[in-house]
Amino acid sequence: MVKFIVDSMLGDVARWLRMLGYDTLYSRRYEDWRVLQIAEKEGRTIITRDRGLFVKARKRGINAVLIYPEGRTERVLAKIAVKTGIKLVFDPSKTRCPYCNVRLERLSRAEALSLVPPKVAAAYDTFWRCPKCGRIYWKGSHWRTIDEVLKKANDLIHVGEWGS
Ligand SMILES: [Zn+2]
Repeated sequence: MVKFIVDSMLGDVARWLRMLGYDTLYSRRYEDWRVLQIAEKEGRTIITRDRGLFVKARKRGINAVLIYPEGRTERVLAKIAVKTGIKLVFDPSKTRCPYCNVRLERLSRAEALSLVPPKVAAAYDTFWRCPKCGRIYWKGSHWRTIDEVLKKANDLIHVGEWGS
């Protein structure tokens, strides 16, 4: 499974990769030398908007994907998928906390009942908890947006318009 380290300008990309189940490091405090060091040591692919960092990575034989500033989320995800071979498919058993990068635990509706508002517990079937921060997640109304972005990204890959 591909692992990532995402540079400090791309927090939204890091959250997407974690949601898709990929082990993804991200910190606003990482400096270039530190990103390179971690990527090399842990076999992580660097995702960056910084051409200088991208070039340094490639010179050291580290996998890296350069993201252009104007890229919309679906285009960015499509490019990462084409360059690294990851699948842009949501897998409920692999999804990670967008904040902690820890794999989420599934909760039954009975367990969720005591943890979410009653309306939410009644309306949805699938719940997760992050074992680290304790946040509860469920497939709510925002899920449409997630499905749409993934569908658009997969369409871009299909027609070969994911950028260069
Ligand atoms: Zn968490």
